[in-house]
This record gives sequence, C-alpha cells and structure tokens, in this order.
Amino acid sequence: MAILIHKLSRHITVLELPRFQFPYCNCVWIDDDRTGLIDSSPPADGQNFLKDRPIDLMLQSHGHLDHYFLTPYLNTAHVYMHPADQPMAQSADAYLEEFGFNLLVSDKRLHKMYMEAINYRTITVTDPLYEGQVFDLGHVKVEVMHLPGHSAGHCGFFFPEQDFVFTADLDLSAFGPWYGNLKSNIADLLNSLDRLLELKPGFVVSGHGPAIVKENVPARLKAYRDIILYREQRILDCIRRGHHTLPEIARCLPCYQKLPPPEKVFLLYEYIMDMAHLDHLIKTGRLGCENGHYFLK
Ligand SMILES: [Zn+2]
Repeated sequence: MAILIHKLSRHITVLELPRFQFPYCNCVWIDDDRTGLIDSSPPADGQNFLKDRPIDLMLQSHGHLDHYFLTPYLNTAHVYMHPADQPMAQSADAYLEEFGFNLLVSDKRLHKMYMEAINYRTITVTDPLYEGQVFDLGHVKVEVMHLPGHSAGHCGFFFPEQDFVFTADLDLSAFGPWYGNLKSNIADLLNSLDRLLELKPGFVVSGHGPAIVKENVPARLKAYRDIILYREQRILDCIRRGHHTLPEIARCLPCYQKLPPPEKVFLLYEYIMDMAHLDHLIKTGRLGCENGHYFLK
C-alpha cells in the first residue's frame, strides 16, 4: 500500500495511510537537530522511508499495537509512552487483560487466536511520557498532552509553532470514538475532546483516516464528541425498553448498531464500550444498578 507523504514544514513530515488498515496508522516524522517519530506503524513503503533514518526519540501515543507495530525493528534508543499504557505494550497478558479477554472470554483458545490474528508483539519502553512534557528537537518543539479516555495513557502531541495537534486515536473518523479497554473512560474522553476544543489548534493530524484535517476542526470535534452522547442515549432507550443486564444491553448494539467483521471481536468491544457508558451513567447519577440489573433513576 502506497503511503502519502506530506511535508508540513522543513522539519516535519506526515506519513499518511490512504485508508484504514490494521495494524497501521498515520505517523509524524521530525527531521531536526535531533530526529523524532510519533507512532511507528506505516505500511511497507513507510518502512522504506524510515529504513536508514536513525530515530533519537520514538514517541508512542499509546499502547495499542497499530501505533507501535514497527518499533521493534526501528533504529531507536529511546521509546516513550505514558506509564498507564506501558503494561499492555510490554506484556501479552496485560494486553489481553486490558481488552477484556480475561473478564469476558472464557475460552483461552480464543485469546491465542486473537493475539495471533493481530500479530501481537511487545516493545521495550525506555522512558515515560507525561502531561506538559516538552521535547525540543532543535527547531521543532513538541508538547505532550495527556488525552485519556480511548486508553488510560493515550497522549496527543501539540506543535505550538506550527499550531497543530497530532490527536492519534481521537481520529475524528465517522466510525466514532473507540473505548473498548477496561481502563477506557467516558468522562476522560469527553474531557480530552473538550481540551482540544479549548486549545483551538489551527489544524489536526489524525492517527487514522485522512491525516490532515484543516476544515471545520471545531465542528468536526463536536460531531465526534456527539457520537458518544448518541450512544449514551441509545443505552438509556434500550433500558427504557426493558433490557436491564449488560448482555441484554450489548445485544441492542447501542455503540456499533451493526457489527463490522470480525463480529465476535467487535461484539467484545461493544460489551466493554457499553460497560464504560454504564459506569459513566451510574457515576453521573442517571442509572442505578442492583445485582447486575441497570435501571433508570
Ligand atoms: Zn488506539
């Protein structure tokens, strides 16, 4: 698959995937006094692009495989990731735990099949990322924004002089936000999107889909945020219609509405995303729960 190469400035290049394909993502290459790469999963010709380029700073937006897929094969000494996401990138057991397999999938053969299907590998993280951290690469400065919700350690990267944010998996796609990890959190996700809205960056570079989003950024962010609220409404409607347990609610598919293939995997994501909503609805006083039965307040 041919990537698109966008030179944003003398020092900053965006490597864009022409369409969504697991386990790949859009990446940002910084060629300055020091070099840096944000996320490491371009397909073959992106790998060619990076082949002979030593990387001083490998910045990982979060601990999902499709953002660090090539890190083990790159020429880099320092790999940064937020501590909350490091376990799942460094251990298969932690990855399965975080994706809810231990909680919801009793057949261990399916755990193995999933990990083989995604071609899971671990990386060694050498350094932490944290909110407010600044990397000065010479001419380019990058500020870390901890933007949790998608995963607990999900980070974006603000380029103050170029006035854009690499938003990673707050990707503004029509598919909507994903929060299918046990530590995904709706309140955090809404806050993270609000922070991007308040920052008002000139443009956004997204981790998936068309990389460079320049048109209607605030409206796009709000529409993306609204998808969460529509899903929440569908959960409340589903309970109103008499579905009170998690399996009953998940069968209404309030998040996905129609499961994409592979359906078993997306049904698992549906369960966990519904759990995130139910937890948020309880914490915000709109639902109660007794013995696994959710009811409207
Ligand atoms: Zn992700």
